Amino acid sequence: MALEYKTVCEKCTTSLTMQSEACICSYECTFCETCSSEMEFICPNCKGELVKRPKRKNSA
Ligand SMILES: [Zn+2]
Ligand SMILES: [Zn+2]
Repeated sequence: MALEYKTVCEKCTTSLTMQSEACICSYECTFCETCSSEMEFICPNCKGELVKRPKRKNSA
């Protein structure tokens, strides 16, 4: 099952590119790194742990 790469932070709605530092929880709530650290890496929606999203490489 592929991760869905959301392109905005759910908290501050800043745009996130594939190369941005972003964090996701196990339910794929997505936040920018700034918000994630403010929330102490706990998802406010599901209380799950936020982990850094792996960057998707553009190389073919
Ligand atoms: Zn944010
Ligand atoms: Zn969540």
